[in-house]
Amino acid sequence: MKLVYLTLLVLATSLQAGDFRAAASQVEITPKNGTPLAGYYHARAVAGMLDPLYAKTIIMEQDGVHAALVVLDVAYTTQALVDAARAAVQKQCGIEGDHVMISATHTHTGPTLPRLNLMDKLTQADSPPGVAYMQSLPDLIAKSVNEAKAKLAPVTPAFAIGDGKGISFNRRVLKEGTTQALWQPKTFDPATMRPAGPVDPEIGVLVFNSNAAASKPVASLLNFAMHPTSVGAGTKVSADFPGVFTKLINERHGPDMVSVFANGCCGNINPNDYFTGTRRNHLQIGALLADATDAAWPNLKPLKTFAPRIASTRVMLNRRSYSEAEIAKAKDIATRMVTKNLGTVTMAEAVCILETISKQNEPLSVEVQAIAFSDDAAIVALPGEIFVELGLALKKQSPFKHTMIAELANGSIGYIPDSRAYPQGNYEVVSARCAQGSGELLVKAVLKLLKELTKK
Ligand SMILES: [Zn+2]
Repeated sequence: MKLVYLTLLVLATSLQAGDFRAAASQVEITPKNGTPLAGYYHARAVAGMLDPLYAKTIIMEQDGVHAALVVLDVAYTTQALVDAARAAVQKQCGIEGDHVMISATHTHTGPTLPRLNLMDKLTQADSPPGVAYMQSLPDLIAKSVNEAKAKLAPVTPAFAIGDGKGISFNRRVLKEGTTQALWQPKTFDPATMRPAGPVDPEIGVLVFNSNAAASKPVASLLNFAMHPTSVGAGTKVSADFPGVFTKLINERHGPDMVSVFANGCCGNINPNDYFTGTRRNHLQIGALLADATDAAWPNLKPLKTFAPRIASTRVMLNRRSYSEAEIAKAKDIATRMVTKNLGTVTMAEAVCILETISKQNEPLSVEVQAIAFSDDAAIVALPGEIFVELGLALKKQSPFKHTMIAELANGSIGYIPDSRAYPQGNYEVVSARCAQGSGELLVKAVLKLLKELTKK
């Protein structure tokens, strides 16, 4: 009798779910002077720092299942970096590589990483300091994951949506009577011009409150879609507005917490107001986002959690196709652009065409990933600079109440416009590696993953 009772007790205990735990950590990844910078179509080397760059990690865990969200203060991620970092995390932290999501904030004053295309020559990403920097990252990422893992403690996540209306702007504009989009226009005539698309004004605010210390926040994940281009020129390293935003949230809500910014679908979204000609710097933008987040803080609603569920899949996309004349023109531009600035759009198109031609027989295979930990919350990874229209569609159709999207995650194939934008041309479209319809394919693949994650 006693034995039966004991057996039942053991069974009951093992069936009971463990605590939902989370923690966060940040490890500095500021590059040394001389490391090539990303962001633009010419070489710039780091000379000093405005503010430090970090590899930041939030880990969630329950019943031995871990999910790690890593965000880097760099311009983009590459497949080579993600593969190496996941291998390092698996080896050094004991967390399966495919349970790790690695994205970039897209700061334009961060280091560049080799991409094995013409951009490496233009930015000197494949120079010895550039290669050395990239090779240093996997261990630093693993360190950040390990530090977060060591701090795991029971938490209750809570979610709110901040109102970021008026902070971000669609940088593509349509003029009356034309079919081609203007890009970042210097002047705007409201009588004849209108934004070519929407913005996503939502600031996703996910806060992990400690169960032990009177709801003290230990980590936050902040999600907003906007290009970090507000420091821009110069050669001093900066995390741009995401650095300011996360620092202010820590200062105001918990000096011991780590706040992580994941960039949303900002492929066509900038911080500059083209309609009034207003430009704000990274300090102003960071403060605006922090104020909007503060306003939403009282609305944080605790989430009912389950052990992290992680799913990912690879999607095959079609490459673009080009005429002989387009290819010949791109080759001509490529010979001249290394020594002369021929204009961003012209150079971007040539880089894209030549990469496409050289990789014609290689599949354009990308990863999409989704992590869920509550019926009300999921986080999605998309592999490029995604047009906001695609992000809005994904959020709307998601089976989860709140869906956060991290772009430039688990590698990047550059811009991914929505189908409607392709005939309208200009910068993001001419530099997109993937054929029209690719963005919609990715949204469909993610929705399928999310649907799977609703079932245990
Ligand atoms: Zn960009």
